[in-house]
Amino acid sequence: MSGKSILIIGGGIAGLSAGCYGQMNGFQTRIFEMHKKKPGGLCTSWKRQGYIVDGCIHWLVGSGPESSFHRIWQELGALEDRRFVSPAEYARVVAADGREFIVYTDIDKLSRHMREIAPEDKAIIDEFITDLRRCTRMDAPVGKAPETAGIFDFLKLVVTQFPLLRILWKWNKVSYAEFGRRFKNPLLREAFPLLFTPDFSLSFLLMTLGWLHNKAAAYPIGGSLEFSRAIEKRYLSLGGEMNYRAKVAKILTENGRALGIRLEDGTEHRADFVISAADGHATIYEMLDGKYVDDTVKNYYEKLVPFHPLLHIALGVNRSFQDVPATAHGRFFELSSPLVVGGVEHKHLPVHIYNFDPTLAPEGKTLLTVLLQTNFEYWNKLRQNDEQYKAEKEKIADTVVSILDQRFPGLAAQVEMRCVSSPTTFVRYTGNWKGSFEGWQVTPKTWNFGKLMRKTLPGLDNFYMAGHWVEPGGGLPAVAMSGRNVMQIICKKEKQKFTTIR
Ligand SMILES: Cc1cc2nc3c(=O)[nH]c(=O)nc-3n(C[C@H](O)[C@H](O)[C@H](O)COP(=O)(O)OP(=O)(O)OC[C@H]3O[C@@H](n4cnc5c(N)ncnc54)[C@H](O)[C@@H]3O)c2cc1C
Repeated sequence: MSGKSILIIGGGIAGLSAGCYGQMNGFQTRIFEMHKKKPGGLCTSWKRQGYIVDGCIHWLVGSGPESSFHRIWQELGALEDRRFVSPAEYARVVAADGREFIVYTDIDKLSRHMREIAPEDKAIIDEFITDLRRCTRMDAPVGKAPETAGIFDFLKLVVTQFPLLRILWKWNKVSYAEFGRRFKNPLLREAFPLLFTPDFSLSFLLMTLGWLHNKAAAYPIGGSLEFSRAIEKRYLSLGGEMNYRAKVAKILTENGRALGIRLEDGTEHRADFVISAADGHATIYEMLDGKYVDDTVKNYYEKLVPFHPLLHIALGVNRSFQDVPATAHGRFFELSSPLVVGGVEHKHLPVHIYNFDPTLAPEGKTLLTVLLQTNFEYWNKLRQNDEQYKAEKEKIADTVVSILDQRFPGLAAQVEMRCVSSPTTFVRYTGNWKGSFEGWQVTPKTWNFGKLMRKTLPGLDNFYMAGHWVEPGGGLPAVAMSGRNVMQIICKKEKQKFTTIR
């Protein structure tokens, strides 16, 4: 065991994961997190007037043993005493005339339902369902970091994962929006772009529905912060050190080597390695002053597309919603006239009804969230004027409540908590560039699943990056794996065997 030291910037899931695996491998790690007391970064929740507003997990891939990510969550102590809910529906899209497209997580049910509502699209439904069934028999490999793999590992991957790679290859080239346009049926045409972000590659939907069908992805009762705290607990029990209110201003370097960090308050800390699990843009262009970039790195930040930021509206409602079936992704109500949020037009209102998690609301009451894609620059500008900023947030919340009141009569009078977070709130609390909630999008135009982004910077030794800014598509399993992979890279450099036992 090396006994060398590592400083980790950011206590989100990637930073916590890097810390846990660092401790397991005998390094002395310290995490520096700018938040005053909470771990988890984006994977968080907060208290408001008796409710817990959940800010993240809709479904966690790896909740069940059918996914190899399960092993990572076990290693990180995230599953201990945790109960999961597996919703029977991924999403429900409700047209203005009452027609519904229910995206069941059971593929047989989904197949029957799609054929019933759109017999005219039989051929395309058959193709979709056939590939979806194939996805249920596959799994993404998680064992060895690709950066440490040799040619034999690569060949083994191609041979064992060929069926998965073939499907990804095919559906990476099609976006949710484009797939929607292939249907003749108007409800399905409108629905598919809503099932994630419209420009994203459809392979993601196939994999997600495959995992949900296998109960390998589900919602953890207790929500996002409880989940993050479990990993922090594991990190501390492994002997790691967590430092809060510790915003890193600069990464210290000398002769092309990372030496340590300087915090905003001026204090400096030194170590053998530095890992940034914080925002990628700030790491490269602010903490390192843009000194370690080449065309590849520049191209990431000029050509790739971050996830669109969100306006996050949470409502605490004195109502049980007990007759409403649970959905993983949410319900989407078609609007009679579009709702414009920071210049982005919405024809449907998405709502997530947490009636399946009693820990988030007092008895008989329910947390609802509405996540609306919006424009970062709009909110950033508006934020300069506090009064206008607050007024705009309230105006949109009023509109959302009145739309929901039409769907659930009496709801407006039952709303007892409202909490609206804009993209600038996301930036303030987590530093994510342009308020992106999951790093880079994977789109047919920009990127493919499985294509590697560099975790190092040119000309800088002993420095690594982890988290969703180096894992296109982002998400919790990807960033946990990212922290694990970085530690494998460091172990290889130190000529020591990577271990997950301790
Ligand atoms: C609304 C929403 C829903 C989501 N739903 C899901 C889901 O259902 N399933 C799923 O898998 N994923 C989901 N995600 C995505 C997932 O949350 C992210 O991809 C993941 O949490 C990113 O983790 P990270 O550690 O890479 O980054 P972050 O969570 O951003 O962590 C970075 C950390 O670094 C800290 N930091 C930043 N700058 C500094 C600095 N200068 N000094 C010190 N600390 C710093 C931040 O405070 C933060 O704690 C969702 C995200 C959101 C917002």
